[in-house]
Amino acid sequence: MSAATMDVLVSLAKRRGFIFQSSEIYGGTGSCWDYGPLGVELKNNIKRVWWRDFVHQRDDMVGLDASILMHAMVWKASGHIDHFTDPMVDCRECQHRFRADQIDERDWTHYCPATKGNKFTIKAGEPCKHCGARRTLCPDCGKGELTAPRQFNLMFKTFMGPVEEDAAVTYLRPETAQGIFVNFDNVLQSTRRKLPFGIAQIGKAFRNEITPGNFIFRSREFEQMEIEFFVNPHERLDGRPADEVWHDRWIAECQAWFTRYGLAADNVKLHEHGRDELAHYSKRTVDLLYKFPMGWSELMGIANRTDFDLKQHSKFSGKSLTYFDEERKEHLVPFVIEPSAGVDRALLAFLLDAYQEEEVRGEKRVVLRLHPELAPIKIAVLPLLKKRAEIVATCHDLRRRLTRRWLTLYDDTAAIGRLYRRQDEVGTPYCVTVDVKTVGDADKGEAGDGKVTIRERDTMEQIRVPIADLETVFARLLDAGASWREIAAGYPRAEG
Ligand code: ATP
Repeated sequence: MSAATMDVLVSLAKRRGFIFQSSEIYGGTGSCWDYGPLGVELKNNIKRVWWRDFVHQRDDMVGLDASILMHAMVWKASGHIDHFTDPMVDCRECQHRFRADQIDERDWTHYCPATKGNKFTIKAGEPCKHCGARRTLCPDCGKGELTAPRQFNLMFKTFMGPVEEDAAVTYLRPETAQGIFVNFDNVLQSTRRKLPFGIAQIGKAFRNEITPGNFIFRSREFEQMEIEFFVNPHERLDGRPADEVWHDRWIAECQAWFTRYGLAADNVKLHEHGRDELAHYSKRTVDLLYKFPMGWSELMGIANRTDFDLKQHSKFSGKSLTYFDEERKEHLVPFVIEPSAGVDRALLAFLLDAYQEEEVRGEKRVVLRLHPELAPIKIAVLPLLKKRAEIVATCHDLRRRLTRRWLTLYDDTAAIGRLYRRQDEVGTPYCVTVDVKTVGDADKGEAGDGKVTIRERDTMEQIRVPIADLETVFARLLDAGASWREIAAGYPRAEG
């Protein structure tokens, strides 16, 4: 049973060192988050797997790592200075701030005149059951009038250099995409790529969100994994414009990627932007939504940005950003398909989907069924008896050997049952236990059998495997994609 409410997950994330509130000892910021020892591993794994699958394993993709601070004109050309705004309203009473377009998605406080002014909290979008009123006042305090909406630019402003003057104003990038567009010609010239090809980038982005919230879902500092895939708009594939075909392909690829690494297919769906929702640069945008605890919300977007960005940067910089089509002997401005995912939102979705509570022998077991490629720790080496020096020494030796290829941890701070539960709770797919039979007993003249127990997280099955086989077994399980069932069939079961 998956039982992950946001509160349960926030608590697990803090307790086990996945995610902490930024600057917590000063009361926290509420809009920025720090990744702890396990969180940083999980996040790095998501980024590594994404990069491997979308950059290294494709022959039509290259990578880039552009700077966060860019020339201020970039943001004029891209439209961010003029258009990257959200409508904001303030409560005249409690001074709380809201995004005008999201205010009806919040539960609201109501002092009901039909019940002598009793206070109620009413579900988002619903009227009061008693008086039939709908929300008009502040949803938080239920008393204050709201100001008229005014546009608020989400970019963080700063100054380049020691003088705080208008000429030195620049911005922390609100998306990684623009770093790719302004380097289009550099990449083209240095790699001699032919269309279609893509440039991928993973990096930080900053948005001064009016209402950050829902844990790491919406924060002011976050990471994006973005691809700008350049396509020849004059080309046709299967009788359709190439950009439209590539857009469909990318939508399918992205959806498949998220389900391959663990999201249940039922928890993911597509949302086609209507005309009124489309950004000014977009011909078509499709969002991948995930069923987060607060409702279906955007996990990533896949937009057809047309030739808007390259043309804008060409106009503002005076530099040609075209591609020479050898076949048609013409210069053209490519169209761009942009799959844009948030690392933090992906991590939140993977954690939520992996979280399960189940009952095992009358006790609650919490298990994170993370895909092994994403799991922060791949193997835990555990001693059955930490008083026996040979057992502990064997554990340390195994940990040292295994961790060269797969992050392996040693833990002896509790009894074995407890140690297993702790690893289940952080998603470690395999535990290796060294016991008395492994090392034998020199005092009694008993030789060890040189075998250890491997326990698998999801089935909790255990098999007895010679130490000499361990690296081959884990190479098959963790690198070659062999199933536990296949491996377990080749070894005797161990007692639970
Ligand atoms: P939203 O509508 O939720 O504000 P958006 O449509 O503005 O998102 P994009 O500009 O398309 O988002 O950014 C691409 C991706 O970056 C999003 O799908 C999301 O995964 C991530 N992202 C955007 N804003 C944030 C944020 N404030 N915190 C965390 N991730 C974010």
